[in-house]
Amino acid sequence: MADTRQDDVATAMREHVLLPAQEMARLGTATQPVLTHAEGIYVHAADGRRLIDGPAGMWCAQVGYGRKEIVDAIAHQAMALPYASPWYMATSPAARLAEKIATLTPGDLNRVFFTTGGSTAVDSALRFSEFYNNVLGRPEKKRIIVRFDGYHGSTALTAACTGRTGNWPNFDIRQDRISFLSSPNPRHAGNRTQEAFLDDLVKEFEDRIADLGPETIAAFLAEPILASGGVIIPPKGYHARFKEVCERHDILYISDEVVTGFGRCGEWFASEKVFGVVPDIITFAKGVTSGYVPLGGLAISDKVMARISGENAKGSWFTNGYTYTNHPVSCAAALANIELMEREGVVEHAREISGYFADALASLLDLPGVADTRAVGLVGCVQCLLDPTRADGNDDDKAFTRKIDERCFELGLIVRPLGDLCVISPPLIITRAQIDDIVAILRQAISEVGAAHGLTSKEAAVG
Ligand code: PLP
Repeated sequence: MADTRQDDVATAMREHVLLPAQEMARLGTATQPVLTHAEGIYVHAADGRRLIDGPAGMWCAQVGYGRKEIVDAIAHQAMALPYASPWYMATSPAARLAEKIATLTPGDLNRVFFTTGGSTAVDSALRFSEFYNNVLGRPEKKRIIVRFDGYHGSTALTAACTGRTGNWPNFDIRQDRISFLSSPNPRHAGNRTQEAFLDDLVKEFEDRIADLGPETIAAFLAEPILASGGVIIPPKGYHARFKEVCERHDILYISDEVVTGFGRCGEWFASEKVFGVVPDIITFAKGVTSGYVPLGGLAISDKVMARISGENAKGSWFTNGYTYTNHPVSCAAALANIELMEREGVVEHAREISGYFADALASLLDLPGVADTRAVGLVGCVQCLLDPTRADGNDDDKAFTRKIDERCFELGLIVRPLGDLCVISPPLIITRAQIDDIVAILRQAISEVGAAHGLTSKEAAVG
């Protein structure tokens, strides 16, 4: 039976909404599935189907849906005081949240600036690095070093730092201050060992610094795991080696933890506990509110702040802010989210179950068409290639993977379509049985679509 509500929503979407990844040739024609409500790790579609939310929205629904504690905190704060100017007024939610985040971040990252989401968090971190070097009296130290396959957002500056080259065409991206290093994708090592590959990546960084001059480089901006660029987990020791190079040249190490923060990798923040570095600045968003309301931010080290404040301030004002900086409702939601995560041990659960998750994804490696599986904490992927010996997927592989995603959707699982990857980064409250459900659906979908492509055995696929 046709669902008229669903048709109305789909029509209004088609006619009036510009999507964040809009294929312009299909503007006004493509239809997205309509969702109505959700609970736990499940979302419900308007046609009555219940689906497992494999990517946790956009890697953000840490505690899952329908959590009354967060909804109550939002309602309470909206009634008590929905808004206060961050320029002139203090409120309890922002103060208490900043204090709390300072205890969760590594090292002396104790100064927190709140933004409206991940892009504005990274944008503010980069603007802070400009401000920092100007106040320090070295206006030429402004370049930002980033990596191909990195993703940092959709403001002018963060889009310019994004190394997903497919996002560049038809935008006037100014990259005169931005320099790209190779993607640390272990599949790009070719016939080098991972150690030799890492040595080459570090050498490329050092050579680039020497070419450009360390006195021109403000910051190295990096996600611990290159998430949207393909769930790329750099070789072991990468982060510490890069941090050491940064320290030698007085370059700020900005760790973009918009995806990896708030338990996604089995720790509150991944930089130190998972990857062994204490950055100068950490950016966060998404999981800080489990996606219930928008919020982002950055935490800056006391050491960095001390160099440009107090007697070192030289009359400067940090004039970067948003109407919704310190937003009381968003900060109240984040506090309730963090309290809930602590009470239920959600981060510990994510850490504890991560091995099971990685093994479950790896169990798919026997299927023809599955070239690789990767996971850290509860972020993972299955890489689907018609020829698994290829390092990266081509257009045929992407079409193959899209069909797998579509079949998963029919079978009750949302899989984020990301090139040749089935990305699975579920709500952190997921159980072992629910992981089994995800993997069973992936197995069926990959087998069926693989068979339709003539893939019958692993050997045949390789050959
Ligand atoms: N940084 C990283 C690592 C991200 O993955 C994203 C979004 O996915 C962003 C920044 C931008 O965040 P937002 O979409 O909230 O602006």
